[in-house]
Amino acid sequence: MPSLALGDFELTGFSDGTYPLDGGAFFGVIPKVMWSRQVTADEKNYVWAGLNSLLIRTGKQTVLVETGMGNKLSERMVKFYGQPANLLSNLAAGGVSPEDIDIVVNSHLHFDHCGWNTVRDKNGKIVPTFPRAKYYAPEGEWQYARRPSERDAISYIPDNYDPLVQSGRMTLLKGGEEIVPGISVRTFPGHTAHMQGVVVQSGGRTACYISDLIPTTAHIEITWGMAFDLFPLQTIESKKQYYAKSIAENWLTVFTHDPKVPWAHVEKDELGKMVVKPA
Ligand SMILES: [Zn+2]
Repeated sequence: MPSLALGDFELTGFSDGTYPLDGGAFFGVIPKVMWSRQVTADEKNYVWAGLNSLLIRTGKQTVLVETGMGNKLSERMVKFYGQPANLLSNLAAGGVSPEDIDIVVNSHLHFDHCGWNTVRDKNGKIVPTFPRAKYYAPEGEWQYARRPSERDAISYIPDNYDPLVQSGRMTLLKGGEEIVPGISVRTFPGHTAHMQGVVVQSGGRTACYISDLIPTTAHIEITWGMAFDLFPLQTIESKKQYYAKSIAENWLTVFTHDPKVPWAHVEKDELGKMVVKPA
């Protein structure tokens, strides 16, 4: 498990596994001759995406950002994506039990970001995976998830969040809130209208779980967005806004779908090209 200190906080990366995505969809309008220099596709044109969660130990709370794909996919979805379901065993291997988690934050509610929010108990009832945790997710995202468009309806699985909202376990966020001292959310529209990045600050240092705004180190260029983005021009605008802060203040960027690099510094070189500098 990759781990580092950020001021007084300890950050650890935990993976739910990897899953295949169509390379064309993953890189939107970018031609394959260009993206295939960065990642290798298999004979079906699939590339492998990671499912990275971020665990933050603040000294007072243990906070889990994102909960991967989980173990409740339908048979049809398992055919497309597999269902690696490694998060709980990886947490256990790192000495973290579900009871240890105080807070869970979802950047948005697509199935590959909030899957382990809940599990089915032995009677088939949907229950929180993390029994003591308070959950947080963007309010606009939850509103949208109730009536998604035909285009992305498949991405929303209500069992991942509706039971938590109904029972009062999930707090819905407008964007801009501080969840605990040093951990706040900020809306970055583009992938969806209400997706939020999670900003972590301690000891004068900042990390940001930027989620699907910059899903991997291969997506750092401003125009390299995913075809899944509902608002591609806003993705570009949000990336510009993010980089204006993150480069100026040397933020650590956490990558939700990079199968190899959980986090890095993203900088602009003298030719204006975006480059990744290892943390
Ligand atoms: Zn998404």
